[in-house]
Amino acid sequence: MHHPITGIAGAGLAGLSTAIGLAQANQPVEVFEAAPDSGWGRKNTWDAVENWTTKTDFADLLDSWEINRNFEYWPVNHLEVYDPRGECHFITSPRPLLYLVKRGDQPGTLEHSLKEQALDCGATIHYNERRDRQNVAVWATGAQHRGQFLGVGLRFETSHPNTVKLLISVSHAPKAYAYLFVIEGQGILSVILTRNFANARAYLQRCLEFFRWLVPIKLDNVRLTSGFGGRRANFWQSGDMPLRVGEAAGFQDYLWGFGIRYALHSGYLAAQAIAHGSDYHRSIHTQIYPLIYTSLLNRAAYDHSGDRVYRLLIDRFSRSPQLIELLRRRYRVKIPSHLLWLFRQAQVNATAPIRPR
Ligand SMILES: Cc1cc2nc3c(=O)[nH]c(=O)nc-3n(C[C@H](O)[C@H](O)[C@H](O)COP(=O)(O)OP(=O)(O)OC[C@H]3O[C@@H](n4cnc5c(N)ncnc54)[C@H](O)[C@@H]3O)c2cc1C
Repeated sequence: MHHPITGIAGAGLAGLSTAIGLAQANQPVEVFEAAPDSGWGRKNTWDAVENWTTKTDFADLLDSWEINRNFEYWPVNHLEVYDPRGECHFITSPRPLLYLVKRGDQPGTLEHSLKEQALDCGATIHYNERRDRQNVAVWATGAQHRGQFLGVGLRFETSHPNTVKLLISVSHAPKAYAYLFVIEGQGILSVILTRNFANARAYLQRCLEFFRWLVPIKLDNVRLTSGFGGRRANFWQSGDMPLRVGEAAGFQDYLWGFGIRYALHSGYLAAQAIAHGSDYHRSIHTQIYPLIYTSLLNRAAYDHSGDRVYRLLIDRFSRSPQLIELLRRRYRVKIPSHLLWLFRQAQVNATAPIRPR
């Protein structure tokens, strides 16, 4: 049977995940990427994928989405969380709390691995080719405008041993967090902000001082990194064409700013819909939106809390013998659908209208 070629704009995580699913189903697929390579904008950095919102472990989810795990990733079972007083809470979990994944365009990164897999399955990718919405069936162009989160950080080399440290403190990262990852000599120190973006450099400096006060870490070959995401007005609507996937559809955890798993998952669902005729709208509504809406509620609660509440929560979570289950319950709040709709409208209305692209 002859299938029309599916065009995808964006060869980031969501676009490549869609391309892999389509090519695996023997559907002709062409991906157009504005940048010279996949992962061009996220050079050799490490990001975290949370592993608590789904019962299935993230690594097993990748297998079920038929995404090869031949990229560098680290399961994190031990985490040091620093509260606003600078006190350390050790968190340990038999199941990984997070997976750190390498991002960027080099071998070993998630993007490079997805790109290789898509090409091996028969997809065609055109780099340095921007497309607009009229010319494609899938829109996977990421967060193109400023959203709720701004991340600024330092990427560096160090001889410091591996570590994962998280800091939650209003004075260091207002209503968000900062972290220090060191993996095999590669370090990332980053602060995620949801407000006071103009003072991002000052917060980064403050966080650097905090982590240096904790551990005498020497940073070599330091590079500044930055990026934004979490634009709520992007939400995908039923009937929207082209199909939107990943951050272009507003798929993001609005509490912490995690978008990797939603990008991969929504790409897989879009491919299923195009190749096998499943209902994308329904899949998104049952598998992705409940988690995103709950993250919006959790975000609203977090915004209205301060250091005292954060300390109590960190203390409670760090003592829990079943932390993953406790965290997952926070994402399993049963919200009546009409309230969800109202809540979503309020969120969308609170942001600027979508600008034509
Ligand atoms: C600083 C920072 C830190 C982050 N940290 C984390 C983290 O720790 N954990 C986590 O889960 N998530 C994190 N995220 C979010 C995560 O990176 C995104 O949610 C994820 O990359 C979204 O994937 P995507 O495919 O939708 O978009 P992207 O990965 O951004 O890919 C979109 C691609 O489309 C291309 N493009 C854009 N317009 C066009 C066009 N018109 N035509 C063709 N191509 C186009 C772009 O060049 C880009 O390559 C972070 C984001 C930032 C910015």
